[in-house]
Amino acid sequence: MNRREFLAVLLPAGAVPYRHYKAPNKDRACAQVMWVEEEKALQLCRAGQACWKPSATGSPYDLIVAPKPRDFNDERRLMILGHEFLHALGAEHD
Ligand SMILES: [Zn+2]
Repeated sequence: MNRREFLAVLLPAGAVPYRHYKAPNKDRACAQVMWVEEEKALQLCRAGQACWKPSATGSPYDLIVAPKPRDFNDERRLMILGHEFLHALGAEHD
């Protein structure tokens, strides 16, 4: 997968590539994953394909809401999951 295809997977249609990027600043993160259908992700993630939510008070786990990869060849959903886990590790973008 080349860079253009990579960005096409991660960005909404017509969006410009991220201008701001802050690299992960944590060595580890604990996240629970809630598998949802893509339509549900759009509802729960403000029209995003998936989302990460920092841990609520008292919980040791962040939450990742994402569609479940069908298998190890489902690169699109695997990349979406990896994108959200980067957020759990402290990465940011605009
Ligand atoms: Zn993101």
